Amino acid sequence: SVVLGIESSCDETGAGLVENGRLLGHAVASSMDEHARFGGVVPEIATRAHLHSLTPVVHRALDEAGLRMADIGAVAVTTGPGLSGALQVGLAGAKALAYALDVPLYGVHHLAGHVAADTLEHGPLPDPCMVLIVSGGHTSLLLVRDLARDPIVHLGDTVDDAAGECFDKVARAFGLPYPGGPAIDRAAREGKPDAVVFPRPLTGPRDDPYAFSFSGLKTAAARWAERHRGGVLPVADGAAALQEAVADVLTRKAVAACVRHGVDTLVVVGGVAANSRVRALAQERCGAAGITLRVPPLRLCTDNGAMIAAVGDLLARAGAEPAPHDVSIDPSAPLEFAALHPVAAL
Ligand code: ATP
Ligand code: MG
Ligand code: FE
Repeated sequence: SVVLGIESSCDETGAGLVENGRLLGHAVASSMDEHARFGGVVPEIATRAHLHSLTPVVHRALDEAGLRMADIGAVAVTTGPGLSGALQVGLAGAKALAYALDVPLYGVHHLAGHVAADTLEHGPLPDPCMVLIVSGGHTSLLLVRDLARDPIVHLGDTVDDAAGECFDKVARAFGLPYPGGPAIDRAAREGKPDAVVFPRPLTGPRDDPYAFSFSGLKTAAARWAERHRGGVLPVADGAAALQEAVADVLTRKAVAACVRHGVDTLVVVGGVAANSRVRALAQERCGAAGITLRVPPLRLCTDNGAMIAAVGDLLARAGAEPAPHDVSIDPSAPLEFAALHPVAAL
């Protein structure tokens, strides 16, 4: 049956419709522009924007799919992690729809959604596969088996900033617009990646092979920008060099993790998977190592409702237990299972 997915963990309100692993339609509204002048997502603004956009976005997704409300057979919604108020708007809306339509509701872990996004383009994930999640809030290496049934093995995370956060903050230091990731990507096209060499944190032989660190790199890039104060900042070169350092660290460690675990498929997901250099270098290194690389198309890399519907569809087909009526949100849930059904103690 058709699963409606709802995403509202940060600044995108997304709705998507998926049936048997197939994407039927989706729509996204973003409050990104409203946050731009604050240089980052303002939770109160994001929450109100979700309230404003949720119903229209669901209708747009239905229109795109050529479906009606009555065609929805299950609802899936992000229950965490994310901004508390933002998550609550999505969950309240999803609960209302599930009750009104008398269909099951599934709570979904946002990061499992990012992982499942790729299945909408490339089909079911092989078991096992290595997943590199690189987004605004996360940088993690995961060993994924059956997403709907098995626990996810968390190999490592960033010890400080996420890769997307590093792009966003350095962009600010470079005077580039928010959000920084896409701005760095654009600026880098005109730059020389070896004009300056930024550090490659935690890539030494004695470092944790699965851990990442981006705060030192962020500081190095900000200091480099600082040294040009009063003169002309070669933004394109700085952007290209930063992007090269991030892409180098991410792809080097991800490919090494595949080799170490004898896994022949690498899946790169999350907003930073939209980065052109990350995509190109991942392809180059996977090709050299005989690893199959899977990266979702750009529109499915950043937050959307289709990826949440994809998880709901997997859960429903695996016969997973729907969420209890008192399901709540968990703003800081670690990724262990794709289904996330927290019940809050009041
Ligand atoms: P999380 O998924 O960890 O909760 P999030 O939902 O905010 O965080 P996503 O929407 O997955 O994150 O990704 C947003 C991030 O992706 C931002 O940091 C943004 O700068 C980055 N990003 C988007 N496009 C690009 C790009 N082309 N190059 C680099 N970074 C990018
Ligand atoms: Mg966003
Ligand atoms: Fe996300």
